[in-house]
Amino acid sequence: MPHDLPKAYDPADLEDHWAEYWVRENLFAQPAPGADAATQSRLNGQTFTILLPPPNVTGRLHMGHMLNQTEMDILSRWHRMSGAKSGRGALWLPGTDHAGIATQMMVERQLLAEGSSRQELGREAFVERVWEWKRHYGGAILDQMKRLGASVDWQREYFTMDDNLSGAVREAFVRLHEQNLIYRGAYIVNWCPRCQTAISDLEVFHEEQKGHLWEIRYPVIENDGNDTGEFLAGAHDNRSSSLGWLTVATTRPETMLGDVAVAIHPEDERYLHLHGKKLRLPFVGREIPVILDEWVSRDFGTGAVKVTPAHDPNDFALGERHHLPSINVMDSEGKINAEGGPFAGLDRYVARKKIVADLEEQGLLAGIKDHTNNVGHCDRCKTVVEPRLSTQWFIKIQPLADKAKAAVREKHIRFTPEMYEKTYFEWMENIHDWCISRQLWWGHRIPAWHCAKCRKITVPAPNMSPDPTVCEHCGSDKITQETDVLDTWFSSGLLPVSVFGWPNLTEKNRTDFDAFYPTSLLVTGFDILFFWVARMIMLGCWFAQDVPMPDGSPRSLADSAPFREVYIHALVRDANREKMSKTKGNVIDPIEIVKQYGTDAVRFTLASMASPGTDIAFNVARTEGYRAFANKIWNAARFLFMNVDRAAEIGITVDPAALGGMPSVGADAPLEARWIVAELHATAAKVNAALEIYRYDDAANTIYQFFWGSFCDWYLEIVKLRLDFSETADKAQTKAALTTLVQVFEAALRLLSPFMPFITEEIWHALYDGNPPEKSIALASYPKSGAETADVQTLFKMYELQGIISRIRTRRKELNVPEKVAVPVKILEWASPTGGSKIVEDNLRLVKKLAQISEIEFVAQKQDHLVWSSVGPTDVVVVYEAQIDVAAERERLAKEIAKHEKNLISAERQLGNESFLAKAPAQVVEGLKKQQSETRLLLEKARGALENLNKDN
Ligand SMILES: [Zn+2]
Ligand SMILES: [Zn+2]
Repeated sequence: MPHDLPKAYDPADLEDHWAEYWVRENLFAQPAPGADAATQSRLNGQTFTILLPPPNVTGRLHMGHMLNQTEMDILSRWHRMSGAKSGRGALWLPGTDHAGIATQMMVERQLLAEGSSRQELGREAFVERVWEWKRHYGGAILDQMKRLGASVDWQREYFTMDDNLSGAVREAFVRLHEQNLIYRGAYIVNWCPRCQTAISDLEVFHEEQKGHLWEIRYPVIENDGNDTGEFLAGAHDNRSSSLGWLTVATTRPETMLGDVAVAIHPEDERYLHLHGKKLRLPFVGREIPVILDEWVSRDFGTGAVKVTPAHDPNDFALGERHHLPSINVMDSEGKINAEGGPFAGLDRYVARKKIVADLEEQGLLAGIKDHTNNVGHCDRCKTVVEPRLSTQWFIKIQPLADKAKAAVREKHIRFTPEMYEKTYFEWMENIHDWCISRQLWWGHRIPAWHCAKCRKITVPAPNMSPDPTVCEHCGSDKITQETDVLDTWFSSGLLPVSVFGWPNLTEKNRTDFDAFYPTSLLVTGFDILFFWVARMIMLGCWFAQDVPMPDGSPRSLADSAPFREVYIHALVRDANREKMSKTKGNVIDPIEIVKQYGTDAVRFTLASMASPGTDIAFNVARTEGYRAFANKIWNAARFLFMNVDRAAEIGITVDPAALGGMPSVGADAPLEARWIVAELHATAAKVNAALEIYRYDDAANTIYQFFWGSFCDWYLEIVKLRLDFSETADKAQTKAALTTLVQVFEAALRLLSPFMPFITEEIWHALYDGNPPEKSIALASYPKSGAETADVQTLFKMYELQGIISRIRTRRKELNVPEKVAVPVKILEWASPTGGSKIVEDNLRLVKKLAQISEIEFVAQKQDHLVWSSVGPTDVVVVYEAQIDVAAERERLAKEIAKHEKNLISAERQLGNESFLAKAPAQVVEGLKKQQSETRLLLEKARGALENLNKDN
């Protein structure tokens, strides 16, 4: 006998309860099957394995996470339940990312507020401080996930700075180094003077800014060593070049301090006379050559380009080509250094102003033009980044990229939506070596040691060799570890291998790897397709290829790829389809909305709109609707439990062993039983098929229609007629009806469970009176359709009955028949493959009850004086003559005629419009034609009815 459910559905309490229960009972722990079982599960199809894109340890849950996690949770729960019988299982693996820059900034801000700084603390104490911060606040986002019921395996929770994952990072670096794929080089990086680190191109956002193009005169040095410019100083010659000048143009005048040449196009006729000449760099006094390079655009600026290899990537390339030195004129904070002569110590922008002023004073400023610049900013702190020459660590990426491209080209990894495959290739074709060093303190410190004596570098040997104590080149013990740390994406790129134990894959220690690698699916956002997805593919394919298969055979590229599928989810926008942003103030906080409507309703809102490639316009009105949906299910459960209790009183019980599968009924069962079972099977088939192709929306809407429409609105109303608990009751019939009712409801709960895990868990436990066959509905098996799906005849019969009942209900309303009053009805006899009028005759009680009918008369012909309503294959008339208001009825019919006429005109206009016909899809035109002929029929009928009414009155 089921537990009583509280009268009102209150999501807050029950969700807190179950969220806590799922974590406490470790319900979603997925141990690796044993060696034999692993092989077995491979043969039968893998355990469904999915990695949570690790949120930053500093993160808080936003709507994007909520969508992403809802999608992952639905799939994990669906796969877990679908594989419940076979023991295939599902593993959803959670963790957090140490997020180098973000976390360091967070703690630095704290220190600033305390009047301290990381420099003051020193590296070791600072790193300890970050750990302390992490221990206190780091779990916030995972706690939010726990409350939202994410069905992850909490026992496997990782942090990217854990010892084992840090070991994997070190091993990956060391192996790449041994393979000669790691090098150190001078390189122009995007330097953030605030964060004090190099950041990748991907971490820079560009913004158009109004700036200037300054034209500066560099004096030409004559062969006798005299600078002609000095003689002409003060003569304001505006020509782009003169005897004495070469005028360059720049948007960043302060970088002139680091100029080492001026480049011109070899065929630029304006400057032929300057070939082979030298210039005197103002302020600094350095002699710099005029060089010829075809890369120079004659049309931009003055056609003469100052060359600053240390502060511009193009100039750096020019400098390499012409074997020029690089002179860095800025320090790490963006201040001019000693190379900048009189400007040393000034901030870059202060120096800019002063340089321009001084140039003007010396007559060296030829002009200032307005110019719109595309200026790069640090994604984290919004500071303008400075291209700056520095020594960094790189991965020679091409060999890794080649493998990663092959994995996708050979379809070992598939993208949904498919268009992202193209985006992936575009990026991979233009890939540059990966700068993996960051000048931070928080992160994985690069495992390389510098020798103070011979200046060479020692990197430990692979296979977890200990840290070196002496230089491998000269034997000196004066070695110190590199101060840079690795890019955060280096460690997160390794996650698919490292979370399953790589590189420590001993005979005994590799069951996880064997069971779960490659993972089945990755669900993530477009914004980290390159940062993360591409890097996982590159590093995964590279390192997993060296891990033999469980049977010792070599691993194929297909089995080296870190995942089989990538699903890129869409954006959650506001109800007006605007992007959510803090400045617009339209950000929806998922936690707030969950408090208001419950997690189930919010999840269902997202699911009901989620499909590949379609952004979601989040509308709270919809969430309110799904809250009502949950309430409807709650009330259905209460109705059902009440009947189970009443049945028990007369000795009728439902055997719990009859539950848990897919219900079926015999051909002799009543129509509504056969129909609801067939509907359930059809629904399950549709939902399973929709989830296969990530159509969360189709799946959710199909369940919604089944539960609300078929089950609650129709089936429950009909089954009431069979639930007879009186003394004279046909007990066998009542028991059969009750059994089907409970079976279908229980299966429907399981069908809904991945979408609304909380309410279904609550009701399911109550249904089994606290003694369910599993600890959770999430461990029961997911409904799969059986042969009953094919019972199309039953479905059609029911649809015809539903049509007639609905039409009579509408007609009653039109005639203002009081709700309680049953009325006589006439039905025109008809024939159809499903049985025609006989369907009504066979289900007389049902039709009469649901449509409030006192008596049904079948007639062979329409009687003219009555108002007939058309429905599907037949016509019905509600006989309510006693109170018919002729005037009102006449008016109603007149209105109806007018409406049909208007629709007909509009349809005719559209169908007569050639350009519309040329553009509209075929099915739209077909639909319009169908609508047109139906409208014409309805119009005729309404006209006939009005005529009859006029004739009789
Ligand atoms: Zn920054
Ligand atoms: Zn040495």
